[in-house]
Amino acid sequence: MTAPLLEIADLTVAYGGAPAVDRVSFTVSEGDCVALLGANGAGKSSLLRAIVGLAPLTGRIALAGTRIDRQRVEARIRAGIGYVPEGRRVFAGLSVRDNLAAAIAAPAAERTRRIDETYALFPQLAARDRDAAWQLSGGQQQMLAIGRALVQRPKLMLLDEPSLGLAPALAFNLFETLAGIAASGTTLLLAEQNVRLAASLASHALILHRGRIAARYSGDALRA
Ligand code: ATP
Repeated sequence: MTAPLLEIADLTVAYGGAPAVDRVSFTVSEGDCVALLGANGAGKSSLLRAIVGLAPLTGRIALAGTRIDRQRVEARIRAGIGYVPEGRRVFAGLSVRDNLAAAIAAPAAERTRRIDETYALFPQLAARDRDAAWQLSGGQQQMLAIGRALVQRPKLMLLDEPSLGLAPALAFNLFETLAGIAASGTTLLLAEQNVRLAASLASHALILHRGRIAARYSGDALRA
């Protein structure tokens, strides 16, 4: 049997006081879309940050059978983890194109190809090619933040509350695009507070409560 794409075992994240993530274990198989649900402060962000290497942790994290929990962030990204942080951090002063280009470690022709692919997925970004990122709407900035992770061709994409601060119609559109990304073969692990949106996409859901997994649902059970 092949290893799951992501394997988390006994993961704890503590910043000093009570753990933000407390002995959490789960796996994500290739092609899954796993939603991490929970209230503010439940530990969703800390869990995603630990996976990409931005939070102190104990426990084990393996990607496609190889342990990554002691690797630096850059190595984890090279290994196939894409990370879209909460609050759509893009380079505000750089153009849309340059934001994407800066995320691609490849020769110019390949860079252009990947940017074109991103524009095919997000036509609204193509229309703003030369505009600075700060000029974009919140929804477009979120697309750009997702595009910056996608151009690195991740096997597993971590998204931290992509719908946060977006008007309902925009959030809905964004989730349709995420469904397309999932359908094209990228595995997703998505922190979300909006259960309805998460349910539209999820193959599985984990409910986090005070750093622990309080319940696990299939996507169908969540939708029901
Ligand atoms: P949110 O929706 O606010 O992002 P969350 O479910 O993602 O919530 P976390 O941000 O992971 O939750 O926070 C979990 C707990 O860890 C909270 O009690 C929070 O205050 C604490 N925490 C998060 N980051 C830090 C940090 N850098 N230093 C100290 N405590 C932190």
